[in-house]
Amino acid sequence: MAQLTLEKLTKRFGTSIGVEGLDLAVHEGELVALLGPSGCGKTTTLRMVAGFLPPTSGRVLFDREDVTHLPAYKRATGMVFQSYALFPHMSAADNVGFGLEMRGINAVERKIKIADALKLVRLSHLADRLPRQLSGGQQQRVALARALVINPRIFLLDEPLSNLDAKLRAEVRLEIRALQQRLGLTTLMVTHDREEALTMADRLVVMEGGRVRQIGTPQELYDSPKDAFVADFVGRCNIVAGRRANESQFRTNGGLLLPVDVASGERGDADAFALRPERIAVVAGESGEVRGRVLAITYMGAQSEYVVAIGDETLVAVRPTPDASEPLATLKPNDPVSLEWDRKVPRLVPQTAS
Ligand code: ATP
Repeated sequence: MAQLTLEKLTKRFGTSIGVEGLDLAVHEGELVALLGPSGCGKTTTLRMVAGFLPPTSGRVLFDREDVTHLPAYKRATGMVFQSYALFPHMSAADNVGFGLEMRGINAVERKIKIADALKLVRLSHLADRLPRQLSGGQQQRVALARALVINPRIFLLDEPLSNLDAKLRAEVRLEIRALQQRLGLTTLMVTHDREEALTMADRLVVMEGGRVRQIGTPQELYDSPKDAFVADFVGRCNIVAGRRANESQFRTNGGLLLPVDVASGERGDADAFALRPERIAVVAGESGEVRGRVLAITYMGAQSEYVVAIGDETLVAVRPTPDASEPLATLKPNDPVSLEWDRKVPRLVPQTAS
C-alpha cells in the first residue's frame, strides 16, 4: 500500500469553489475520513484522487509518484461507491473478476484471486448469485471484494454505508474497519455521518465550503475543536456566544457568568463557549454556581436529556438515566437545578473560521 499525499489540491467549477488548497497526507495503512455538510467538497476530492476529475491546480501523489495527470484506470485505486454499482446481469464472482479481466489477467489466476477476495468478505458460498439475489449488505460486500481484488494502492470509500439500514450499517462499519486494518489499506473515506467518521477513522478532515476547517484524531476534534463549526459538526454541543470575563469565567452576551479555566491554546478572538452535553452534571436545587430551571426532560433509555434555562440561555445536559431512588428521578419541568462541570473542560473558540 502507498501513502497518499495531496498538495494544495484545488478544483474550481467556473467561478465557484469545489475544493481549495487541500493539503493532506494519508499514511500507509491509515483510514482518513473527509467529513462535512453537503457541498463542502468531499466527493470532488475523492474524484480527483481516483482520477475521474482533473484538478485545477495542486498535486496528487501515491508515495513519491505524481499521479495528478494519470488516467483513472492506471492509478490502481480500489473504490467502493454508495450505490454499489454492480453489474446486474453478472454473478457476484463475475462482478469481482471484471476489473481483473480488464487488466488482462488470465482465467486461472482470475479464479484464484476472485475466490480469495470473496473469502475475505465471507461470501464464498454466494459466488454464483446475481446482485438482485443478494441483500444490501451482501451486495456491498461484493463491491468491497471487487475493489480489493486488484490489490489497490489506495482504497477509496464514497459514503459506503448510506444505503444500509441502521443495524446493518453498524455491522458493515465494523467489518470494513477490521478488513482495512488487517490488510493495512491506505484509505480515504467520504462521509457526512459523524458517527461513521468518529468510529471508523484514524483521523478526520472536517471541511466546509471547499476548505479544511480542522484535521485531527476523532478525540482531538471532539475534545479540542478549533472553532464552533467543528465543535458542532463532530457531535452535539452547547455553544454560547460571549467573551472571556476573567481567568475563571466566560461572560455570555446576556451577561451570564459561566465557569471556565484558561485553556491551553485558547485564542484572544474566541467568542463562543463550547461544552458537550454529557460533560454537564445536573444537581437538584439551587446550591451551585450556575443555576437555572428545567424546561424539559426527555427519557432516551440509558440516558436522559435535560434542557435547562439559565438566564436567557438554554443549556442541554445528557446524563445516565437516574434510578428511581435518586433525587434526579423526580425532577420535573420548572424545578430549580444547578449545572456543574469541570472548569477545565469547556473550550472557548471563535464562532467563525479564521
Ligand atoms: P455531498 O455530501 O452532497 O455529496 P460534497 O461535500 O461531496 O457534497 P461536492 O460534490 O464535492 O460536495 O461539491 C463541492 C462543490 O462543488 C459544491 O458547491 C458543488 O455544487 C460544486 N460542484 C461539484 N461538481 C460540480 C460540477 N460538475 N459543476 C459545477 N459545480 C460542481
